[in-house]
Amino acid sequence: MQHILKLDLAGQPRGWMTAHEAISAHVRGDVVYGIGDPLPPLFGGIQRVTGQRSRIDLQPILALSGRVRAGFTLPLCNRTLFRRDDHRCLYCGRQFPRADLTRDHVLPTSRGGRDRWENVVAACRRCNWQKDNQTPEEAGMPLLAVPFRPNVYEWHFLARERVLADQMDYLSRQFRAERDWAN
Ligand SMILES: [Zn+2]
Repeated sequence: MQHILKLDLAGQPRGWMTAHEAISAHVRGDVVYGIGDPLPPLFGGIQRVTGQRSRIDLQPILALSGRVRAGFTLPLCNRTLFRRDDHRCLYCGRQFPRADLTRDHVLPTSRGGRDRWENVVAACRRCNWQKDNQTPEEAGMPLLAVPFRPNVYEWHFLARERVLADQMDYLSRQFRAERDWAN
């Protein structure tokens, strides 16, 4: 089942919901507005009074009521990181399946490098092994791209394998110009 993009009232992405979570939000009356073509309808139980089967038409993007909070931590996981780097080793430039990629710390953690978006890249096992405990300069292995922290729109796109056209349309408007994921 497709996930629903959750927004706060300011229109900022605030996570992905399962259909079940989206229905709960509807039932609680938390949905303020929706965006996009409705998904195939979901049917619930028969209502005792009317004898009708309840039906919910979810839209792919839902804005929920509640406090608008500043900031949203963008979890760093390998799946999202490898998608950021287009499943490409940022040292040799070749593409690999996810299972053959590793998370390389540009400045190694043993030397004070932090586990944060700006210091991690996808690397194949061979390049990671070859680079070892060195900086790219020391290893003579220049990076092919500068590692960056995605913005909140980019992160939501990267965090899901399947994104519906309406969701992509909403998110990609806030991608920075140099991103070509939308193509
Ligand atoms: Zn490599």
